[in-house]
Amino acid sequence: MLTDYHLHLRPDESGTTFERYFTAENAARYRAAAAAAGIEELGVSEHVYRFRQALDLWRHPLWLENGNDDLDAYCEFVRSTSLRLGVECDFVPGAEGRTAAMLEARDFDYVVGSVHFIGEGDAAVDHDGFDVWEGDADAEEIWTRYFEHFDRCARSGLFDILAHPDLVKVWGGNRPLPEGDLRRFYEPAVEAIVAGGSAVELSTAGLRKPVGELYPARLFAELIVEAGVPFALSSDAHLPEQVGFGYDRALAFLDELGVEEIAVFEKRQRRLEPLGSRVG
Ligand SMILES: [Zn+2]
Ligand SMILES: [Zn+2]
Repeated sequence: MLTDYHLHLRPDESGTTFERYFTAENAARYRAAAAAAGIEELGVSEHVYRFRQALDLWRHPLWLENGNDDLDAYCEFVRSTSLRLGVECDFVPGAEGRTAAMLEARDFDYVVGSVHFIGEGDAAVDHDGFDVWEGDADAEEIWTRYFEHFDRCARSGLFDILAHPDLVKVWGGNRPLPEGDLRRFYEPAVEAIVAGGSAVELSTAGLRKPVGELYPARLFAELIVEAGVPFALSSDAHLPEQVGFGYDRALAFLDELGVEEIAVFEKRQRRLEPLGSRVG
């Protein structure tokens, strides 16, 4: 079995309206790309901030600008296709109860939990215009703050899959790394993951970003495997041609780690399936 669960049916740009992208034809393009790559399990996980219901969780300027769509219309659309129904939901500290209520009111197959925004204020690790690196904080502070948010996200138990777990590295050599052994960030993160019970995403999206590597990093991934936490496999595609992107690298990586099963989800129930090997 191969999966691609963290998918977006549209790019993160203005003008990418619901009406234009949430169509049977567009879903079929993703399904065809998946079939060509030998991926049986395909699901969509739109960004929560594209829905007006997310404004109950947080009124970030990006969310106010983009929160135009209706979450229930999205669920209804995805259920009319052969795709699994997911959503990529930011972890918003302090909004755990409202987040749980929003998610539990809908029949998602899985929820992908993300940390993009790491306060203070509106700053994010991967968004132009809200770039945390433009402030005074150094690499040590930014990584510490990212992993504090990630650890709370993991412990919250709100999510089935923890997305791109070391997203903070997204800029690669364009930003400094903290000095020394990064295990001091990874070890508490793995404890938090175990406590919260979610699966962790092995994401090929980092291969398309300046960092040019998989999320999570090798050492982080080894600790996750040692702790017995399962991986969910995804590309974070925003276009049909990105479905299954870099899966040859991801499968080689999982093989080196000795991982033989991946997490599969239906109605928020997780099971493990033998990892497939076919990629077109
Ligand atoms: Zn994300
Ligand atoms: Zn995403």
